[in-house]
Amino acid sequence: MIDQPDLEQEKLPTTYLNYIDGVWQASGTGRLLRNVNPADTRETVGFVQESDAEDVNAAVRAAKQTFGAWKRLSGMQRAAYLIKAADLLDERKADIAQTMTREMGKTYAEAFAETARGTAILRYYAGEGLRKTGDVIPSGESTNLLFTTRVPLGVVGVITPWNFPVAIPLWKLVPALVYGNTVVLKPAAETGITAAKIVEAFADAGFPPGVINMVTGSGTGVGQALVEHPDVQAITFTGSNNVGKRIGISALSRGAKVQLEMGGKNPVIVTEHADLDQAAELTIAGAMRSTGQKCTATSRVIVLSRIYEPFLERLVERIKRIKIGNGMDADTWMGPLAGKAQLERVLGFIQKGKEEGARLLIGGGQPQGECFANGYFVEPTLFDEVRSEMTIAQEEIFGPVLVLMKADTLKEAIQLANDVRFGLSASLFSKNLSETMIFIQEIEAGLVRINGESAGVELQAPFGGMKQSSSHSREQGQAAIEFFTAVKTVTMSG
Ligand code: NAP
Repeated sequence: MIDQPDLEQEKLPTTYLNYIDGVWQASGTGRLLRNVNPADTRETVGFVQESDAEDVNAAVRAAKQTFGAWKRLSGMQRAAYLIKAADLLDERKADIAQTMTREMGKTYAEAFAETARGTAILRYYAGEGLRKTGDVIPSGESTNLLFTTRVPLGVVGVITPWNFPVAIPLWKLVPALVYGNTVVLKPAAETGITAAKIVEAFADAGFPPGVINMVTGSGTGVGQALVEHPDVQAITFTGSNNVGKRIGISALSRGAKVQLEMGGKNPVIVTEHADLDQAAELTIAGAMRSTGQKCTATSRVIVLSRIYEPFLERLVERIKRIKIGNGMDADTWMGPLAGKAQLERVLGFIQKGKEEGARLLIGGGQPQGECFANGYFVEPTLFDEVRSEMTIAQEEIFGPVLVLMKADTLKEAIQLANDVRFGLSASLFSKNLSETMIFIQEIEAGLVRINGESAGVELQAPFGGMKQSSSHSREQGQAAIEFFTAVKTVTMSG
C-alpha cells in the first residue's frame, strides 16, 4: 500500500507498487527503478516497480474479467465514482503537485495548476456520463426505427509521457472509464510515483477491482507487452513521434484501435500589426514554461522583417529576466529538465544549431553556480539566422530553445510555419482581421491561437494535431467519445 502523504515521511524514499485487480502488489521481477529529483539528483524521490509482461498479463486479465460488470453500469453510476475520485484528488492536490515537482522538475505553481485541472477533468466527464450517446436517423422505410448507440471497446491500454504526469493520464483514463471501458495504465517510468498517487485516489474512491490497473516499468518491458496483448482492444498513447509510429503499426497490425498524440514543432508568427510586448511575453511563456517540455511549446518564432529588431530586443530582455532554479522555490520561473537523457538531447540540439550555422544569441549551455551543480538545468536559449532546413528548425527539441526566423510577408511566414512534418499548435500575433482570417485558413495545425500562447487549450475543447503530430483523432471534451466507444447502427422493424 502507498504511504499516505506526510511531509516528514515524504523525505524518505518510499517504494511504490503496481495496482492490479484492486490490490497494491510488487512485480514478480523483484526489480525496482529509482526516481531522483532532477533539480538535485542526490535526492531519491522513491522507487517504482520495474515490471514485465507477466505483470501486464495479470492486469489485462483483471481488466477483462471486470469489463462485463462495469459496462453494464449506467453512465450515471460510473460518474458517481468519478466525482468521488475528484474530491479525493482535490484534497491531495498539494501533495501530488509536490511529488510531481520533485519527480520531474516543473515548478510547483505549474504542478498545482495541472493537478487542479485533473480534478476538473474528472468533474467534466462525470457530466459527460449523463449525455446522450446516439442518434435517431430518419428511415426510408416508415415501419423501421433506425438509430445508433455507442458501446465501450473493452480493455484500453493507456501509455503516457512524463511531461504532464497528471493531466495526460487523466484525460485518457477518465473518458475511457466513464464510457464503460476498463483500463491498464502504463505511465512513464520517470513519473511513476505521481501516477501511483493518482491511481491511489481512484482506488480510495472505491472503483471496483480490475476497472483501473497500473503497471510501471519501461516502454520496452511493459508498454510493448500492453500494445501487443491480444485482449487489449484499444491503445491510447501520448509521447514521441518515433515511439508512437512503432506502437501504431504494431497495434493496428493485430486489429486494435489506436490513438496517437505525438510531438510538435510549433510556430508563432508575429506581424507588424501585433502588440509587440504582448507577443514577446507570450512567446517566451509558450517556449520556456515547463522548461520547454510541452508538446505544444513554441519552438519557432517567425517575425516579419519590418519589426524584427524591436521584437528581438523584447525577446532578449524577457529571456534575461527568467529565474532558473528548483521548482519548489517560490521565485523559480523555470525548473530543470526532467532527466539526464533530456539534458543530453537538448545540449545536443544546441550544438547542432551552432554547427549548422545558426547564430546563438543567448543561453546555449548549463547555468553555473552551486545550486545548479547536481541538477539537469539548461539555460533558456535563443538562436537567430536560422534557415528552415536546419535541424533546430525541423526537429522537436523539447527544451527551452527557441529559434527565430525572418519573413518579408505573411504568406512567406505561413509557408515557413508549415514547412515541417508536425502540425500540433500554432499562434499568430496580429490585431488585423484579414491577417487573422488568412492564418486560420492556411496554417497546418490542430490547435490554432490568435494573440495567445501556442501552448494549452481548455479541457472541454478538442485537442490534437495534424500531419505527423497525431493519428488524427481528438482527445478532450466531447471529442473523446469517438475514440473510447464503437458505434452500433440499429435498424428495428416491427
Ligand atoms: P516517449 O519516449 O515516446 O514515451 C512515452 C511513453 O511511451 C512512455 O510511457 C514510454 O515508457 C512509453 N514507451 C516507450 N517505448 C515504448 C514501446 N516500444 N512500446 C510501448 N511504449 C513505449 O515520450 P516521452 O519522452 O515520455 O514524452 C515526450 C514526448 O511526448 C514529446 O515528443 C512530446 O511532444 C510528446 N507529447 C505529446 C503530447 C500530445 O498531446 N501531442 C502531449 C505531451 C507530450 P518509458 O518512458 O517509461 O520507457
